[in-house]
Amino acid sequence: MAPGQDMPWNAVCSGCEYPLRGLGHPECPECGLPFDPGDIHSFRRLGVLSYARKAYSGKAVVTVFILTFIAFLMLGVSGFYLL
Ligand SMILES: [Zn+2]
Repeated sequence: MAPGQDMPWNAVCSGCEYPLRGLGHPECPECGLPFDPGDIHSFRRLGVLSYARKAYSGKAVVTVFILTFIAFLMLGVSGFYLL
């Protein structure tokens, strides 16, 4: 079984806060720091909000930007033709 499968859902690298759950090797792919799934002192655990911010930050910003842009275009175009 992959070592990362046993990790808590909010386990992150103690060096760079990379999410560690589900990894195939007991080593951070971001900074190379090793961790032990059986030793809670070898990694960090984030709170719900900071974990979500870390894991989804980039994607969320892009999604919100695209949706806002599309909504703005649709509102602008329909408003232009309706008025
Ligand atoms: Zn790391």
